[in-house]
Amino acid sequence: MEVSIAHSAKLLNEANNIVLTAHIHPDGDALGSLLALNAYLSAKGKQVRMLLDDEIPRTFKFLSDWEKIEKPDSSESEADLLVVLDSSDLERIGKVRNAVKAPVLNLDHHISNLKFADFWYVDSQAAATGEIIFKLLKEVDANITASMATALFTAIATDCGFFRFANTSTETLKYASELVSLGAKPHIISEHLDTKPLAVIEILPKVLETLEIVDCGQGGQIAALTLRQEILANLREDTEGFINYPRNIEGVEIAIMFKEADNGIRVSLRSKTVDVSKIALAFGGGGHARAAGCTVTEPLNRAKRLIIEASKKQLAKGSKIE
Ligand code: AMP
Ligand code: MN
Ligand code: MN
Repeated sequence: MEVSIAHSAKLLNEANNIVLTAHIHPDGDALGSLLALNAYLSAKGKQVRMLLDDEIPRTFKFLSDWEKIEKPDSSESEADLLVVLDSSDLERIGKVRNAVKAPVLNLDHHISNLKFADFWYVDSQAAATGEIIFKLLKEVDANITASMATALFTAIATDCGFFRFANTSTETLKYASELVSLGAKPHIISEHLDTKPLAVIEILPKVLETLEIVDCGQGGQIAALTLRQEILANLREDTEGFINYPRNIEGVEIAIMFKEADNGIRVSLRSKTVDVSKIALAFGGGGHARAAGCTVTEPLNRAKRLIIEASKKQLAKGSKIE
């Protein structure tokens, strides 16, 4: 059933043994939301566990308590509530899905959300799940510490490209201002997020060599980057900003990044005015109108052909995001 923020707060209040989780390939929003909610519930004396079926990217290891996030094991445990953050479908939480037996509360902001949970609060106008968590914490008059404010600022800022993307609303900026008052330091946070190992900068020429431009006439251009395993070697986690190169090229309407992973080809889609969440959904993924993703379990070249064809079709339709 659909619930309000107040109802979500009540569910959290009534539960004692709570498991929190977020999506695999965690980003700033997934981790910031998870850590802020964990800090609040732990301070209330709840028995809380954070489970995430993936590694924590190096970039986010400046957030307090990241090392308390556990990977699910094969045993099944019971809880009063499983809170699923920043995830539009259950597959996104990987093995946590089968590791915890509990009613599910889903707090999310993806337009592609499949409303899979027992209780769901989905606000696709929110720039980040971090906005929803901040609202919830304000609703219950939580004591928001500087490290919680840092986690929430990171969540919000990363999902709206540091207040540059179309999802940046007056609320987003208001929340950011409040979080800075509570102790978040934007320059320190962005320094952590922007700092990369030298090796990441060194592979850039090889990455840019893979750039392909497909001209779709009136519709604009599609620009794609391809990250092969051999280029990435041990840098597979550090590809976050690469999509911005094709995205920022003049005349490009849809930017795509194909990345070889163990379970198939991970596809990232970005657009200016075309709804790319529809393309991602058609391949079993999801996301937002202007930023979406999916994993295609096909050989690289076929995966590329399928996604580029689907993108061309979406461009040819000419329907713009309102
Ligand atoms: P990314 O390209 O990985 O940065 O993802 C862009 C957006 O699409 C994020 O909001 C993701 O949560 C969403 N997304 C990426 N991959 C998937 C997937 N396999 N299923 C559902 N949503 C996804
Ligand atoms: Mn996310
Ligand atoms: Mn998000």
